[in-house]
Amino acid sequence: MSKYDLEIIGSGPCGYVAGIRTAQLGAKACIIEKDKLGGTCLNYGCIPTKALIFSAGLFDISKSLDNFGILVDNVRPDFEKMQKRKKEVVDRLRSGIEFLLRQRKVEVRFGNAELIEKNSVKVGKDIIEAKYCLIAAGSMPAEIKSLPFDKRNILSSTELLELDKVPKSLIIIGGGVIGCEFASLFNLLGSKVTIVEMMNQLLPTEDTEIARVLEVSFRKRGIEIFLGRTATKTELASEKTLICVGRSPATSALGLEKLGIKLNKGFIAVDEDYRTNLDGIFAAGDVIGRNLLAHVASKEGIAVAENLFGKGFKVNYNAIPNCIYTKPEIASIGLTQKKAEASSISVEIRKFRFQSLGKSHILGETEGFIKLVVEKSSDKVLGCQIIGPHATDIIGEMCLGIEIGITSERMASVIHAHPTFSEIIGEVAEMVHGKGIHTI
Ligand code: FAD
Repeated sequence: MSKYDLEIIGSGPCGYVAGIRTAQLGAKACIIEKDKLGGTCLNYGCIPTKALIFSAGLFDISKSLDNFGILVDNVRPDFEKMQKRKKEVVDRLRSGIEFLLRQRKVEVRFGNAELIEKNSVKVGKDIIEAKYCLIAAGSMPAEIKSLPFDKRNILSSTELLELDKVPKSLIIIGGGVIGCEFASLFNLLGSKVTIVEMMNQLLPTEDTEIARVLEVSFRKRGIEIFLGRTATKTELASEKTLICVGRSPATSALGLEKLGIKLNKGFIAVDEDYRTNLDGIFAAGDVIGRNLLAHVASKEGIAVAENLFGKGFKVNYNAIPNCIYTKPEIASIGLTQKKAEASSISVEIRKFRFQSLGKSHILGETEGFIKLVVEKSSDKVLGCQIIGPHATDIIGEMCLGIEIGITSERMASVIHAHPTFSEIIGEVAEMVHGKGIHTI
């Protein structure tokens, strides 16, 4: 008999969360990790980037402290200290995951996992067997053949995060989410930043108007942007170059070909319940290439565990928030106007500016707006896009609204505390029926 109910390859937000949920449901899980607990998200992605972005944001605010009646002299960034703090945050959170897994009696083995037979995984000299297997091996930075990573000047996001000093100049190839976040971060820290994006808009999958506002804001702050351009090696006249043109699945060391596990454009092909073509083997998170986000990976991990050992669970892919931690921040969920119209859904669009909120003036952050996409026939809120202060927190309420299928009328009836940024949701919802208060 197998020692484990579920063996999980990878301890990122998909794998470790699936392990915890499996244990909560009374089944026995084992996680195999070849690198550090917590995966890309904790070690090379969400957490370290946002720790540095927060430090850089504080430095930016510190330059205007006299506007708030605070006089400080000689404010300057200490990048080494920022990096040290980032590492402390990551280490603390990693210990937290370690503790949770230990408490739940989820076993963790370190080493490269290779599937050798259905549900037999080789780790070093050991063979680990389980009733089921979940591949949560994640993704890694995609390379451009003509501009291969050299770990010195041409870097991936992983290496850029480890720099010991702020580069004087930085070219970023790829103006997607990761590229724009790094552009914002290093611009705030004083680098001369250039973005080269192949498409005609930054953040090609975001709402066009929002992407345009970010572009204008970036240009105003001195970021050079080339759209509709592909970079060549001879053009890279900067101290560092970041290549961030997407992510590739981390599948090469898993032994998938030998077992005949089907792929879809390199990512593992799964059905709606994350089953691969081999019975008992599942895959979820970045490695299936659906939505490359930590919160999606975690929910997919939960779904796999719940479907195997609990009551079952379906991820609602219509209610997935996308957050971009640039300055100004961006957050969106559900349909944009363009996507709704492409699906022949007739929608009302309403927009409310941060400029009209009390809280924005208190904090001195008045840039940006919220946009609500509402279905005309049903009044149902189908989507929301925000650019402006604390957008990535404000979107939380919209996640709940869209998840429960809220109408704009019901949303307008919610009482928001004053003065808060969340008031912007009530204000824009009131506008749908022509009853906006702080707007004309
Ligand atoms: P991963 O986190 O990649 O974990 C997979 C794990 O599997 C890794 O630890 C790997 O070592 C291990 N593994 C792989 N192969 C094997 C093997 N053969 N044997 C054993 N172990 C193996 N998402 C957000 O939602 N918000 C953000 O703000 C955000 N910021 C990001 C910033 C950057 C710079 C990057 C690169 C990504 C960011 N992401 C963000 C994306 C997020 O990190 C991923 O979506 C998420 O980590 C995917 O989780 P996962 O568990 O599927 O895979």
